[in-house]
Amino acid sequence: MTTVNYDIAIIGGGPVGMALALVLKNSGISTLLLEARGLPETVEDPRPLALSHGSHLILRRLGVWQKLTQNTPITSIHISNRGGLGRTILNPEDAGVDALGYVVNYHDLFRSMYETLQDSDTDYLTGAIVSQFDTDADYGHVQFKHDGVEKKIVSKLLVLADGGRLSAQLNDITYQTHDYEQWAIVANIKAETIQSGIAYERFTSDGPVALLPSGKDFALVWTVSPKAAKEILALGDFPFLTRLHKHFGDRLGKFISAGKRSGFPLALKYATPTTSQRIALIGNAAQTLHPVAGQGFNLGLRDAHELANEVLMTVNTSKEIGTEAMLARYRKQRQIDSNAGRIFTDSLIKLFSNDNPLLKHACGLGLSTLDCFPPIKRFVARRMIFGARG
Ligand SMILES: Cc1cc2nc3c(=O)[nH]c(=O)nc-3n(C[C@H](O)[C@H](O)[C@H](O)COP(=O)(O)OP(=O)(O)OC[C@H]3O[C@@H](n4cnc5c(N)ncnc54)[C@H](O)[C@@H]3O)c2cc1C
Repeated sequence: MTTVNYDIAIIGGGPVGMALALVLKNSGISTLLLEARGLPETVEDPRPLALSHGSHLILRRLGVWQKLTQNTPITSIHISNRGGLGRTILNPEDAGVDALGYVVNYHDLFRSMYETLQDSDTDYLTGAIVSQFDTDADYGHVQFKHDGVEKKIVSKLLVLADGGRLSAQLNDITYQTHDYEQWAIVANIKAETIQSGIAYERFTSDGPVALLPSGKDFALVWTVSPKAAKEILALGDFPFLTRLHKHFGDRLGKFISAGKRSGFPLALKYATPTTSQRIALIGNAAQTLHPVAGQGFNLGLRDAHELANEVLMTVNTSKEIGTEAMLARYRKQRQIDSNAGRIFTDSLIKLFSNDNPLLKHACGLGLSTLDCFPPIKRFVARRMIFGARG
């Protein structure tokens, strides 16, 4: 078996792995991107992704944004708490931007990134399943199967963007995990009210339910217990829509129709540290979060962007890629943003998903307080949009 040499090998061509390849494209850094799944047509992932203004700017610069078939601006976010007083509304003026974010679909984003990568010098293999990897002081070694043939490569830096599947094998990286015992039910929903750019986030003791503007309709992310998820996924359309209406309330009138439903089990999982010898973790491999605040991909995109900047800076100063010095700079760069995103998301779930009436009213009071103090609102809105450095 012949072994091919690269500067960087990226394992996992989900949106975060692809983003890293796109930032590095045509830079003269030889990059291999290995993705287990096949062509975009086979990636039927219906989850909506709420992208921050910062992510929108990065994707536009990468040429991905222009290829999306649909992106729906979020012109305000309405946050409420079922069974407790108080609500808050975030507007673009709170953050000093034109839109608070944009809703896109995972599958559409995957396809746009795939197409953009076709015009690059990246060696990009789909249907390539990595079975083994290890590292020594100078190189990462990867073994994978492509077109039925076992292949081997070596690279100066190995990037794990595989959602955390392979990185669990690394002895010097510890994963902290917390099962939320919740599932997210995802579907497109048509309501009596046509969407007007408002994203609704409603906290309930079972977990949050979000209706995000998507085209003319809404993209639903409904958090429920694993038992309820099974029941809800098995319901016919009419009982499903009636149950959703009962849960969400009458703010959008009746729900008229629903697209295909999918369910995702939800857990918090994060790696410490996010690097190992000749290895960097990015995206869900570094941190997998609850979707409540729409932070996961936004954080992952910033991981990819900052790792790419670190690599480019290293090459521009004629230093070696993938050394401990370079990886330490990447860890330091990402620490505050990653911790803040995780703590923010996890705290929202722990605070709002409870039955304690006192805590419920305290949360309601918190939402109302936010509404009365524009500087605090601005602080929260900017962090949701731009990450910890707001
Ligand atoms: C219901 C739901 C709603 C969400 N909403 C939002 C939102 O609104 N905003 C937001 O920012 N985030 C959101 N997220 C989070 C977001 O989906 C993830 O953070 C994002 O998909 C992470 O991308 P990734 O590329 O790191 O990982 P993944 O999307 O998991 O991709 C990993 C890739 O690695 C490949 N792979 C795995 N193993 C191998 C192997 N051995 N060899 C080769 N390839 C391999 C897989 O095929 C896959 O394509 C949501 C998540 C869920 C579940």
